[in-house]
Amino acid sequence: MKIDNWLLEILACPHCHAPLRADDQASELVCTGPECGLAYPVRDDIPVLLVDEARRPGGEARRPGGEARRPGGEAG
Ligand SMILES: [Zn+2]
Repeated sequence: MKIDNWLLEILACPHCHAPLRADDQASELVCTGPECGLAYPVRDDIPVLLVDEARRPGGEARRPGGEARRPGGEAG
């Protein structure tokens, strides 16, 4: 992932407004706030700074997407 330093400097956590640091291995931007620590995904080198999209620290694994596929459908 490619995140420019100047970009990192102007970005801030939308949740607590702390600076972010890049985690190359996880392709995430991790909040440096001591009581926050949300990890934001980076998709196609574009940081997704949405609290809803962020991964919470503490190992709470939340399965992505919980939608079951519906059988059948329209034929036509
Ligand atoms: Zn934060």
